[in-house]
Amino acid sequence: MATARIIDFFNTRNPATPCLVVDLDVVADNFTKFRRALPLSKIFYAVKANPAPEILRLLADMGSSFDCASVAEIEMALEAGATPDRISYGNTIKKERDIAAAYAHGVTMYAVDCEAEVEKVARAAPATRVFCRILTDGEGAEWPLSRKFGCVPEMATDVLKHAVSLGLTAHGISFHVGSQMTTVDAWDLPLSHARTIFDAMAEAGVQLKMVNMGGGFPTRYLKDIPTAEAYGSAIFDALSKHFGNRMPETIIEPGRGMVGNAGVIKSEVVLISNKSANDNVRWVYLDIGKFGGLAETMDEAIRYEIKTPRDGADKTPCVLAGPTCDSADVLYEKNAYPMPVTLTIGDEIFIEGTGAYTTTYSAVAFNGFEPLKAYVI
Ligand SMILES: *Cc1c(COP(=O)(O)O)cnc(C)c1O
Repeated sequence: MATARIIDFFNTRNPATPCLVVDLDVVADNFTKFRRALPLSKIFYAVKANPAPEILRLLADMGSSFDCASVAEIEMALEAGATPDRISYGNTIKKERDIAAAYAHGVTMYAVDCEAEVEKVARAAPATRVFCRILTDGEGAEWPLSRKFGCVPEMATDVLKHAVSLGLTAHGISFHVGSQMTTVDAWDLPLSHARTIFDAMAEAGVQLKMVNMGGGFPTRYLKDIPTAEAYGSAIFDALSKHFGNRMPETIIEPGRGMVGNAGVIKSEVVLISNKSANDNVRWVYLDIGKFGGLAETMDEAIRYEIKTPRDGADKTPCVLAGPTCDSADVLYEKNAYPMPVTLTIGDEIFIEGTGAYTTTYSAVAFNGFEPLKAYVI
């Protein structure tokens, strides 16, 4: 959301558009809210949501750990001051030489979801800890993570037993309920699966220690979302229900929920047009689109809140599109976006809640447009 500091930055610096401004005070506040909502869980910030060095440094200073998806992200977390014991290599799809590079950096916790990945870790990072990711259905998530990551819960025991047979420590289970999860109860079912796997492993003589409950915590876009406390108490209740007084260590990996509401993108209206004389849907072209950082508008999944200088006026449905010469560069069309009838070419508009999954999704130079410029204040 546009904080006083962000508004002041736009007013005094008047940066060229498009650009993102991120307020670190909001990130700090989010971190504190997560820590209070789930005081027994360790926080591993999902670096991919926004890897700006200022954000990583702030979170490292506040005691956060880091969920990294690549060697480059591991190096960024180390650079920010995190020690290797505060880094998890959470991607289930890793090159063996990247696992070796992570191991050389001192990383000792790796995600796996199949036996082939376990074998890579056993060879390249011997005697470290692995956790097995299980599939979730993504139900209730606005940006589901599908079947790409994780195995069915029934397979996790085989994967973890294989790890033990190769000299690794079977550390625990992970899952991700799907990003922008607006249902606070979504953690209940995967936690019940985790408990079943803990029991099956105990029967085989292996005591698992950790449940990594992933990310999924939402940012407010157009609709209100439950508070961090509501997530915290629903998750705590589910943990108690399934684990009783034998609570495992737990981890959460917020990405979007840590930085989404800390950023605002300023953009400019480049063109407003109609497709025929009697067409009542206006096309509004902005100087940012799918290739400039708003990739999560894919399938119109994430619907950002947009503020304009003419918000008091009546609104009319508009197709919103980006500036590039690619027909895929349309943000909202199936579900047209209401914009003020008085909106004018050259107006500056503000796209709220854009601190997560924007800068890194922006193309290098498609059509000659520069990557999204970001200011972290
Ligand atoms: C992307 C990702 C996250 C962060 O997800 P959010 O929905 O942004 O909180 C957490 N864990 C893993 C393994 C991820 O890949």
